[in-house]
Amino acid sequence: MLRYRNILRLSQRRNYSSGATSGSPGGDKSGEDDLHPIRRTLRLLGNDMRKVKEFFVPKEKESEDDRIATQGKFQFAGERTRDPTAPDDFQTHCDVLIIGGGGVGSSIAYWLKEKARDGLNVMVVEKDDTYAHSATRVSVGGLCQQFSLPENIQMSLFAADFLRGAKEHFGQEVPLQFTPHGHLMLANDEHAESLMRSSQLQNELGARNEVLTADRLAARFPWLNVSGVALGCLGLEKEGWFNPLALLSNLRRSASGYGAHFLSGQVVGFEFKSQTDISVVGDAGANEGNYTGLEKAVIQLPDGTRRSCKFALCVIAAGASSGKVARLAKIGVGPGMLQVPLPIDERKRFMYALNSQAQSAPGMAMPMTIDPSGIFIRRDGLGGNYICGMDSYEEGNLHSFDQHIRSKLAERIPALGEAQVLDSWTGSYDQNVYDENGILGAHPYYHNLYLATGFSGHGVQQSLAVGRAISELIMDGQFRTIDLSRLSFDRLIVDQPMYELNNVLS
Ligand SMILES: Cc1cc2nc3c(=O)[nH]c(=O)nc-3n(C[C@H](O)[C@H](O)[C@H](O)COP(=O)(O)OP(=O)(O)OC[C@H]3O[C@@H](n4cnc5c(N)ncnc54)[C@H](O)[C@@H]3O)c2cc1C
Repeated sequence: MLRYRNILRLSQRRNYSSGATSGSPGGDKSGEDDLHPIRRTLRLLGNDMRKVKEFFVPKEKESEDDRIATQGKFQFAGERTRDPTAPDDFQTHCDVLIIGGGGVGSSIAYWLKEKARDGLNVMVVEKDDTYAHSATRVSVGGLCQQFSLPENIQMSLFAADFLRGAKEHFGQEVPLQFTPHGHLMLANDEHAESLMRSSQLQNELGARNEVLTADRLAARFPWLNVSGVALGCLGLEKEGWFNPLALLSNLRRSASGYGAHFLSGQVVGFEFKSQTDISVVGDAGANEGNYTGLEKAVIQLPDGTRRSCKFALCVIAAGASSGKVARLAKIGVGPGMLQVPLPIDERKRFMYALNSQAQSAPGMAMPMTIDPSGIFIRRDGLGGNYICGMDSYEEGNLHSFDQHIRSKLAERIPALGEAQVLDSWTGSYDQNVYDENGILGAHPYYHNLYLATGFSGHGVQQSLAVGRAISELIMDGQFRTIDLSRLSFDRLIVDQPMYELNNVLS
């Protein structure tokens, strides 16, 4: 097993040198193709240097008129439509190619374009514009801070802040239907101590929740059977649920309004380029001095034709398919560092809409309740409706509620023992089978590849922070807001899992 000290060696390995890109970003480019992706990226870095200068030499104060002009960004009517099969409409070059336009991919596009505007040409390739099988669409939109890792807590805190000010970000937004409601995470004796510790950390970081004993839980929630429950952690603010498809629509519409191009198509391969001027230090297996990089993505368009698009940077945000897309880039099947796969797999989950008219059924004050058995349930509007699912339960089918869930649910909430199943649906988690947490940041071998995937059961609420984080890495070369470096791919190479003790829905 590799140990932590190897992280240092890893960071040394990421010292790439490229003669091809060593020219001055601000150099003379007359007569050259201005769309060249590498030069555009360098020009951006030049912008960064200008920003540093502006920091030290303050500009004149922004006039009221300027401010209003900036706010005018919201006046776009909707997405720009493009016909990818029209001869001149397919982009053969882009600065950043994002594979997957679900919550995570659209958020990355949104944050990149919100910051860079015309300075960066961003293209998102999405294979299914109906999002019928995207996790984002079928998610229950739960938002809570009851995690054990500071990174997860901070990302969800940011989501709560962002959602509160959604109009500011999205202008005329598609209503997000945010329903503020605490989550109630129940723990048995075995997990009580870790629940207490996590709650303390969450509160230190800005969440607000309280730990209740079984007696207090019983007094507060008369519908709850507390046998086997030692403690429960109840969110007091910044928690609830929202409409994930509405968030996706807003992100996609806003990114598109800022000029991101959304292309209907499926990435089916990559084209590689041998670059002897780049060396990956320290990766003996990858043939030092003979670096083969990613140059183009091969995209299958809806009419079956295949075109390729050259990119300066590429981000894999393909949800549950990310492991497969990574394999197209030889991740997990190549030599040296490329032997390490991206451990993202599909994990089927089933959700049920229930109704109960029982007198003692939980009322409006019911929090999203997460039972140690893995069952989670919340109210769904008025009229005795609920949404329920069960963690780590994938072998069933849509009709197996009675077989797998009913008796456990009845044990915890007896009044729902006879609840009627109104509807059911299924979706797949983008499950990180290594440690059930997101993998984000630069790939340690490919100098122009980023990953943003594997958020397992909490990716919708994290999509906002993840998009912002990837935009920081691309534009600033480092995390500026939340330090998410512990969630990088490097942890797979040095075998340092980042387990989340309180995975709410995974
Ligand atoms: C039943 C269920 C309930 C959930 N509940 C919650 C919850 O309450 N709270 C929470 O925070 N999270 C929840 N999640 C998790 C959350 O939905 C996911 O983690 C999150 O949506 C992942 O977003 P994504 O953009 O990475 O993936 P997706 O939304 O799946 O998007 C990935 C996109 O990539 C596209 N794609 C794939 N391969 C290619 C390719 N080769 N070329 C082009 N496009 C491609 C796909 O079509 C897809 O649209 C839930 C998930 C499920 C299944």
